Amino acid sequence: AHVGAGATLADLPLRDNLRGKQPYGAPQLDVPVQLNTNENPHPPSQALIDDVAESVRAAAAQLHRYPDRDAVALRADLAQYLSETTGVELDTANIWAANGSNEILQQLLQAFGGPGRTALGFVPSYSMHPIISDGTDTTWLAAKRAADFSLDLDYALGEIARLAPDVVFLTSPNNPTGAAIPNEDLAAIVDAAPGIVIVDEAYGEFSDQPSAVALIDRYPAKVVVSRTMSKAFAFAGGRLGYLAASPAVVDAVLLVRLPYHLSVQTQAAARAALRHRDDTLAGVASIVAERERVVARLTALGYAVAPSDANFVLFGEFADPAASWQRYLDDGVLIRDPGIDGRLRVTIGLDTENDAFLRVSEKLAPTDL
Ligand code: PMP
Repeated sequence: AHVGAGATLADLPLRDNLRGKQPYGAPQLDVPVQLNTNENPHPPSQALIDDVAESVRAAAAQLHRYPDRDAVALRADLAQYLSETTGVELDTANIWAANGSNEILQQLLQAFGGPGRTALGFVPSYSMHPIISDGTDTTWLAAKRAADFSLDLDYALGEIARLAPDVVFLTSPNNPTGAAIPNEDLAAIVDAAPGIVIVDEAYGEFSDQPSAVALIDRYPAKVVVSRTMSKAFAFAGGRLGYLAASPAVVDAVLLVRLPYHLSVQTQAAARAALRHRDDTLAGVASIVAERERVVARLTALGYAVAPSDANFVLFGEFADPAASWQRYLDDGVLIRDPGIDGRLRVTIGLDTENDAFLRVSEKLAPTDL
């Protein structure tokens, strides 16, 4: 037994709102085809690898010093990228960066949620929103998405009026269901919301919808857009998320951030990855094309497929999704069981990986639906 095995979780003076909860836990299994965590399937180019290695090597000469606490150069690069792609003139003061967008969301709830406050989300959506709410002792309120997984605007406005949440989470495109929220609907929700609206655009680059960044100037005390380099930028291992908002929101986050949270290596590597963005983001178009191919084939096989603006697809309906998930795994294809009636979620991979996934799907269509 381990040292300390005499105490179990139940013996600890854990906060009540964490009792009985489960940690985030997508299985990390070593199988040939991994289509379960919405990563970008394209590995970094040799030029990007070399640039990261050289940049980190150069930065290592200063490892005895703390990193730039405000990550100014990186934030300037992110502002430039987001301005270029959204047409909204953002600068360093509009951007904050952290170790993945999960840390961004946590910092936002530390500043705008917390004890006595509430966060409202529309489920099914990203499973970390309630977990980060619990972790910051923010009361999580779950409203429902429509049966087709879209956001029913009238219902959403009613729930916001009824619950007056301090924070509203909108995930666009939504994980795990796939569709983006039109900007008119976003604006209507922001109008109705009494507090902060976090638009989680982790998959924004895969969508044709304009970014909610366009709403910041109109609603500077409300709209915060969360983004990540984990998906389109193929930088999940690098851990870099960021937000775009008014400078006042960045000032609020500074009150809760840990000093020097972004390491010298992270800042150097992320800046290197951003320098290669044209190359990396060219891969997004091929992922979108593969998504359309996978959707068409699944539909032809008789699956119900939810419309997707992201790099994954929710599909079904399986009689026993857990059993079907295992059948994919038995054939070497790891996908995700998000725990939604009869549905499984597959990340769009390389064409060969998608072929492997579709071969199992062909086998299962007659037996498992
Ligand atoms: N938001 C959404 C909707 C996500 O799906 C994810 C990753 N699965 C994240 C945020 C967090 O990603 P990261 O911390 O890697 O930026």
